[in-house]
Amino acid sequence: MSLHIPDELLTALSSAERVVVLTGAGISAESGVPTFREAQTGVWAQYDPRELATPQAFARNPRLVWEWYEWRRKLIQQAKPNLAHHALVDLEQAIPAFLLVTQNIDGFHWLAGSRDMVELHGNIARTKCFEEGHVVGWWPETDDVPPRCSSCDGPLRPDVVWFGEGIPEQALRTAFDATAGCDLFISIGTSAVVQPVASLPLLAKRMGARVLEINRDQTALSVLADWSLRDKASQLLPELIRRLGYPTNAIDGA
Ligand SMILES: [Zn+2]
Repeated sequence: MSLHIPDELLTALSSAERVVVLTGAGISAESGVPTFREAQTGVWAQYDPRELATPQAFARNPRLVWEWYEWRRKLIQQAKPNLAHHALVDLEQAIPAFLLVTQNIDGFHWLAGSRDMVELHGNIARTKCFEEGHVVGWWPETDDVPPRCSSCDGPLRPDVVWFGEGIPEQALRTAFDATAGCDLFISIGTSAVVQPVASLPLLAKRMGARVLEINRDQTALSVLADWSLRDKASQLLPELIRRLGYPTNAIDGA
């Protein structure tokens, strides 16, 4: 199979020194990670998302919310990063100033080896104290569901951004600063309609950067992007790396 990659895009990428990549659910869908709604099968189908993923829901029924995230962690553990995640690690290593901004909570970019990154919506593998907000990496094994914070004895919650919560200030600032100064912005597998994230590619464009979109479907960004490609990211990104002659860490079939 040969993919059509515009020469101009290859030139832009090979000369880019500051690159920001934004990823969304589409990149992990290629690994088989279900979205929030797709994970709402079986007993979970009866709930409104606001009963499973808001601070109010957790305050009302912490066990239910904790178990919903346990279920989603299990689904994520059945999948693994794909060639698109691995290609972004190669890109990070080839580009002088690189930032990966993800809306995904599955931690797959980190697992693949990305390090210059911001997880805007947190990471489902981490927990934090519901009362005090600090991230908790370890908790004693007890029968408590959810487990309890060792410092305040309050319940622990997943370290993800729930409906009605804002993206952490620092993460957002890092994403916007890097975007304002980038020369190439790449949007992958995101519909790019939810604010404030939807502003990122527009900011890049306004500041003179080129914009590449990789998405299976057309989005609001498609008409504004310099290039909008419908290929699978897990095929297109490794091919881009290959054509540019960048070294790759990806293992076949990873
Ligand atoms: Zn605490």
